[in-house]
Amino acid sequence: MLEDDPRWILAKKYPNLLMVNPVTGKMGDYPLSSQYPLGWVKIIEDLVSKASLIPVPEQVFFTQIKEKFGTLRAYTSYSYKELDFLIKEAVDKSSQTCEDCGKSARLSEKDTWYATLCAEHE
Ligand SMILES: [Zn+2]
Repeated sequence: MLEDDPRWILAKKYPNLLMVNPVTGKMGDYPLSSQYPLGWVKIIEDLVSKASLIPVPEQVFFTQIKEKFGTLRAYTSYSYKELDFLIKEAVDKSSQTCEDCGKSARLSEKDTWYATLCAEHE
């Protein structure tokens, strides 16, 4: 169920950063900022909790958080140096964290398909 999804629980904890609809600028109920692999929830939680402490204008929020080529992508409505630094930190972590379970992993490529998976999920 959506209510039990840790990504959804995290989004509800930080609605100003994770639940804003990029088109309307209003709170959405199925944010694009929650479509990342479950194994990366801790990374996103760390990113968002740090991001929430940066003094940025109200209109700054995450427009999309997802996986691409085996690592994390996080896009924001505006670019801020401090925020971009936190995102880079999270992307680096995602390349060493299993997208299925969150354990230590490595980025690998199979037939142009990229994934960051632990030995158990590879
Ligand atoms: Zn794993």
